[in-house]
Amino acid sequence: MIDFRSDTFTRPGPGMLQAMLQAETGDDVFTEDPSVNKLEAMMADYFGKEAALYCPSGTMSNQIAIKVHTLPGDEVVCSNLAHVYIYEGGGIAFNAGAQVRALEGDRGMITAAQVEAAINPDDVHKARTSLVCLENTSNRGGGCCYDWEEVLKIKEVCRRHQLALHLDGARLFNALVATGQDPRTYGQVFDSISVCLNKGMGCPMGSVVMGSREFIYHARRIRKKLGGGLRQAGFMAATGIYAMENNIQRLQEDHQHAKQIAQALLEKDFTGHMLPVETNILIFEVSGGAWNPGTFTSYLKKEGILAMAISPTQVRMVTHLDITPEMVEKTCQVIAEMA
Ligand SMILES: *Cc1c(COP(=O)(O)O)cnc(C)c1O
Repeated sequence: MIDFRSDTFTRPGPGMLQAMLQAETGDDVFTEDPSVNKLEAMMADYFGKEAALYCPSGTMSNQIAIKVHTLPGDEVVCSNLAHVYIYEGGGIAFNAGAQVRALEGDRGMITAAQVEAAINPDDVHKARTSLVCLENTSNRGGGCCYDWEEVLKIKEVCRRHQLALHLDGARLFNALVATGQDPRTYGQVFDSISVCLNKGMGCPMGSVVMGSREFIYHARRIRKKLGGGLRQAGFMAATGIYAMENNIQRLQEDHQHAKQIAQALLEKDFTGHMLPVETNILIFEVSGGAWNPGTFTSYLKKEGILAMAISPTQVRMVTHLDITPEMVEKTCQVIAEMA
């Protein structure tokens, strides 16, 4: 099967497995796992933050950050398409006891003017606005990258109103490769950043959240409370170190593959509106004749290709480490032959 359902379906290759076998480990709850410590130091340095914390999943990294930045009853400002809002099981309410002010942005990206207008006044009737969460790349936005000028304006609004700014960077490496930005500029602007290792980076699991030393001190306690304090996590952290050393620049290939598939799709009458393909995610409408997301994905499945219907009108396809040029060629051919 050629699996475009998500970039979470990657399997560790021989190099990554070797890195796991050779990992030095210890008890990370005692902060004595050398591989976890190395990965955390590497990540903090990469983004120019003081400290980092290895977590089992991106969801846990985000939820920890939100909990550290807020008090129960606070309000979190984010896009109405944000992963932290629509795909984390109501975690903001459950874990932080905070509520969400969801803004309708462009492909999951919000503006400084929208953020400023959403901040509650200092009034007992109102929830205290304390945190803004951005997502880069934006998953439901088709893997789009934030306009950096807008991010800087949002930062300025946060500074003026004393709001914390968190980045859900599950696919931040995709954004960095696509834009050529320096990762440290992110560290300068965001109070906390989460990244996923279990997506395009190709690890079986894992995520890292970064912030100030004080932020990580609190984050470590919350990770423990959530049951995310792991023991010999170094076997897994070793995959993260391997991915940092080997799998960042190659994300460019995933982006190229996504563009090739987009081209093949845009030749077809059944392809409706497609979100601009900036990185490794394609989101497009399928309609006309016998075609809808259901019939489209079942046809591909019979050809050994998996795609995902994400709404009654839209299909999502995601390229990743385990998609080869030959698989992309085959996929384009199958699409070309569809009536
Ligand atoms: C996948 C994802 C996460 C977290 O995912 P986990 O599966 O919990 O690691 C967070 N944010 C975005 C935008 C994602 O795509």
